[in-house]
Amino acid sequence: MKICKKCIQPDSRPGIYFDKNGVCGACLWEEEKKIIDWDARYKELQNIAKWAKENSTGNYDCAIGVSGGKDSTKQALTSRDRLGLRCLLVNSEPTGITEIGKHNIENLKNLGFDVISLRPNPIVMKKLVRRDFFKYINPVKITEYSLWASTYIVAEKFNIPLIIQGENPGLTLGASNTGVGTDSNAMKANELNTIAKDWREYLEVDGIKEEDLYFFRYNREILEKNGCKAIWLNYFLKEFTNHENAIFSREHGLQWRREDFDHESIGTYSQYFQLDTDSTQVNQLLKFIKFGFGQCMDHACYDFREGRITRKEAIELVLKLDGKCSDVYIKKFCDYIDITQEEFWKTADKFRGSMWSKDVDGEWKNEIRHILETESNV
Ligand SMILES: [Zn+2]
Repeated sequence: MKICKKCIQPDSRPGIYFDKNGVCGACLWEEEKKIIDWDARYKELQNIAKWAKENSTGNYDCAIGVSGGKDSTKQALTSRDRLGLRCLLVNSEPTGITEIGKHNIENLKNLGFDVISLRPNPIVMKKLVRRDFFKYINPVKITEYSLWASTYIVAEKFNIPLIIQGENPGLTLGASNTGVGTDSNAMKANELNTIAKDWREYLEVDGIKEEDLYFFRYNREILEKNGCKAIWLNYFLKEFTNHENAIFSREHGLQWRREDFDHESIGTYSQYFQLDTDSTQVNQLLKFIKFGFGQCMDHACYDFREGRITRKEAIELVLKLDGKCSDVYIKKFCDYIDITQEEFWKTADKFRGSMWSKDVDGEWKNEIRHILETESNV
């Protein structure tokens, strides 16, 4: 096991790459951002917007998938106010939306947009989440599936020429095999390996038929045949970062977590990530069990790379918070998919990554933690 020589990202992130100096792809992207001709990229974006206006045969120039969070608020306002596009927002409502999540999606609508909300059948959803928990220990995989697909489905049905997505994870996470490359083309979101594999795999779930999965897939061939384009906005805009988007969106009414929220309960200190559903917290805990790092690692790495905290501070935050998750969220999740907490932990332990071993007292020990502790003492 190793961590990035620059930030502290571990090599257990799926698909991550390091250069010969041991620097991770996300840090390399941060460097690359300094030499990109952003004016040229913005002109390219303006040309795409112009093309969309000239080629829209229906009522809308672009479709934007929104959760109501920092990125979607930034996407919607940029598209309408800077690019002059007529936007249709597409919202795939998460299971168990939080109060902040409700506030934020209402706030976005009230900034003056037409919105379509899609919500897959909750009974079907529950079966699929349960299955993904036992099969992949990933309870949000299927939610992400519908989240991505909904915008493409709506774009096809409404003859919308352009789809605008936010962040190409291939650029920002430093992972080379996210499945979508590092270019601006978001039409291939169906190849993202966080959702990937064929939607047909869900047909093996008891009682699930093809028609139950309509909101979990899109027809890329038809969209491409129709000449529809899909783009990642962060490819074109230098300022499209988590932090900048959070500040920008708060200025437009987005609510963050309260300043005094309990960091340990969700395993991070950041106030503006993934506000719309609590299933995130359990998913991050499971990520920690599987890959040895959780969301505090991601947030501390972003803050370090963009110069808001030092490497030492990042290490301290991760050692203090990463992988923490209140029992409240675990219980809520277990109740949702009808399992006991004992079953939850038994299944989680089956997926525990190779960075874990038991110490003499029978407690789980994480090698990434060990590396970080060693580095913090140097
Ligand atoms: Zn790095």
